[in-house]
Order: sequence, then C-alpha cells, then structure tokens
Amino acid sequence: MRIVLLGAPGSGKGTQAKLLIEKFKISQISTGDILREEGKAGTELGRRAKAAMDAGELVSDDVVLGIIQNRLTRPDAKGGFILDGFPRNIPQAQALDAMMARLGKPLQLALLVDVDREVLMKRLTGRRIAPSSGTIYNIYFKPPRVPGRDDETGEVLHHRADDNEEAVRRRLEVYEHQSAPLVSYYKAQGKLRTVRGVGSIGEIFKNICDIIEAQIRPLAVAMSRAEAARAQSTPARRAEALLVAAAKKAKKAAAKKVAKMAKKRVAKKAKKKVAKKKVTKKKVAKKAKKAKKAKKKVARKIRKKARKTK
Ligand code: AMP
Repeated sequence: MRIVLLGAPGSGKGTQAKLLIEKFKISQISTGDILREEGKAGTELGRRAKAAMDAGELVSDDVVLGIIQNRLTRPDAKGGFILDGFPRNIPQAQALDAMMARLGKPLQLALLVDVDREVLMKRLTGRRIAPSSGTIYNIYFKPPRVPGRDDETGEVLHHRADDNEEAVRRRLEVYEHQSAPLVSYYKAQGKLRTVRGVGSIGEIFKNICDIIEAQIRPLAVAMSRAEAARAQSTPARRAEALLVAAAKKAKKAAAKKVAKMAKKRVAKKAKKKVAKKKVTKKKVAKKAKKAKKAKKKVARKIRKKARKTK
C-alpha cells in the first residue's frame, strides 16, 4: 500500500497516519518528523533545515528529496508506506513519481484531509506536546488538567517553535501557495480522494479506512496476484518462446537443405542423361562408319569380280 496524505499543517494527517500504520502494518514517512529528529540530534542536515522550519518556510527540495530517496529504499518501505508531509510542492511530487516509477511501484492513493482555515489556526497555535509520551493537548479543544503540564507525568508541555501565530500564518500561506496545487496534480492522475478532517479522530479514521478498503485493497490484491502470475509465467513463457523459435529455425534450415539436395540430384541426373546421349551418338557414328567401310569393301569385291569375268 503506497499512500500520500495531503492536508494543511494541523489537518490531523500525522495523527491519522499513526493509526493507519498500526492497522495496515506499513511505515509512516514524515519529512517533518525526520527533520525535527535531525535538528534534535544536531546534525548538519538538521542545522541546515532549522531556520526555514522555525520561520514556517519550506526546507529546500534537494534536502527533502535526499531524505525521501534514502527512506524509500530502506527495507521496511518495501511492504508499503504512508507519506505524511511529503510532497509539499509540484516539483517534489514529480520527483516522487519518478522515484516510484524507477522502483516499479507507483503511488496508489493521495488522500486529502480537508479542514477549514480557522480550525487549523486554533489547532496549531493551541497545540502542546508532552515531551516523553508525545501526547498532544490543545489549549482550545483538549486542555490539560493543569495548564502547561502533562496529565500523566506533570512535565512541562512543549510548544513547537513553528506553532507560534506568526509561523503558523506563514505555514498556512505556504500550504495554500505551494501544496494546495497538489490536489489538482493528483486529481488529474485519478488518485485523489478527500475526507473531512473534522469530528472525532475515530470517525475520521473510519472514513479513511473505508476509502482505503474501497480503493486500494482490491487493487493491491489484484496487482500482487498479477505480479505473482507474471513472475511465475515469465521464465516459462520465455523458455517456451525460445524453444518454438529454435524449432522454427531448425525446420526452415532442414527444408532448405532438402531442397538443395533435390536440386543437386536433378542436375546430376540431367548431366548423366546428356553424357549417355553423347556416348550413344558416338556409337551410332562408329557403327555408321563401320557399315560404310563394309559397303566400300563389298563394292571393291564386286568390281574385282567383274574385272576378272571380263
Ligand atoms: P510538518 O511537521 O509536516 O508540518 O513539517 C514541519 C516543517 O518541516 C515544515 O514547515 C517545513 O519547514 C519542513 N518540512 C517538512 N516536510 C517538508 C517538505 N516535504 N518539504 C519542505 N519542507 C518540509
């Protein structure tokens, strides 16, 4: 199963991706998560991405494409994946299509989680995260019992640097300008499906699963069956085709040889006949000569006898 989750920041696609990987046992690939981990680990890549991330801008395509290329070729991505936060613009989508074409595994579905802008603003600016468990609170929709503290551990909740109002506005603008055109891109490919991203998480998840069951599961089963059948029959078919071709060639060569031999035989017979005819002609000529000689002899004898009687 190969899915792209589309949606503005705060649409809840990350939450849904986590539920989907549990249910379908596939990998979640979130470029945002990878970039944040690199930032935490203090790597060169993390440092390069941080400024753009904090300002709510997109990280450069070459950095993100490098991450994706590396991640998609890892063994755990072979069984399928959900891309969350990637692609973010048309060039990224085109690069992804090219990568998938090289792997012979095109995307099957682009799922848009659709949420209104005002809801997105509150979801993002109100989001607070428990550092150890990753539990997500929202000061508007799901506030912790004690403001700013995790209900379980009491630890101070984290407010992402790019969840402040200014960065959120910028992120939503960037989404509208750069990422929203992806909707038309995947629509044109016939791969786009949309779910409303409001209501309970469970409800949204059910709607997403219904779409996947209807769109991908039958297709994926049919594709894997066809692939298995092709894999099984290809060598056999190829061998059979080779044998048939070899047999045809041999038959043609044999027919050519037979025709050549027959031609030779006819030519030899004709030559023999001509030779025989020549011999017969010679014999006849010799006989005629002999007869002529004998005739002359008889004539001579008659003349001699006649002279004597005179
Ligand atoms: P997210 O957690 O998906 O909202 O991503 C957080 C930030 O990471 C974004 O605002 C971007 O700065 C950066 N980012 C994540 N994914 C991409 C991407 N595909 N292309 C460029 N920047 C990205």
